[in-house]
Amino acid sequence: MKLRRQRQCPAWSCFAVDIQCQRLLKHDGPHGASPNPRYAQHYSWTDADPNAIEVLPGNVWFHRPDPSRVLQTARRVGEWAALVPGAFFLWWACSLTTAAVFLAVDLLLSVRRAHFVDLGRFTAGVWPGSPAAPRLIFAVAWMWHGPERNVKRAGLEVVLGRVTVGVYALAPRKEWGERKRQRAALHVRRKAGRL
Ligand SMILES: [Zn+2]
Repeated sequence: MKLRRQRQCPAWSCFAVDIQCQRLLKHDGPHGASPNPRYAQHYSWTDADPNAIEVLPGNVWFHRPDPSRVLQTARRVGEWAALVPGAFFLWWACSLTTAAVFLAVDLLLSVRRAHFVDLGRFTAGVWPGSPAAPRLIFAVAWMWHGPERNVKRAGLEVVLGRVTVGVYALAPRKEWGERKRQRAALHVRRKAGRL
């Protein structure tokens, strides 16, 4: 990663063209500016005579660093900078287990995409809550096999801030056998179709 911050030269050309220099700060030679990133030429001028503008071949468009990516990297570095001393402190003051749990919980809370592991009829996963959902610091809830009142419990979910961890059955026990048979039949049909 390049840590050197690239800045744009602040010089502006004469009034007639009125364009900011698109070269880097403290560049050598005359100022230059392409009106857009795809323009095949650039205007060239000097501080001594900004009215003498030449049109030269080549694009000199200044590519600004993407602020969202820079901010994301900065935030992640900041998080780790806060986390690692915290973990070492817990290791020193309590135990390695405490430090490991602390790191695991933090890793869990930084989940930005859903992750699931299927274990037969059951699945376990962690997923970020939708930004529109109400913010809960901590909540535990049963999951059900449907919206009706007579359905069985499917599993349990635990909400930790903006992340939900859940373990639940994909289908009730008596439907699972039937589902497996259906899936196997579908698999056979697909294979037959391909042959
Ligand atoms: Zn310049």
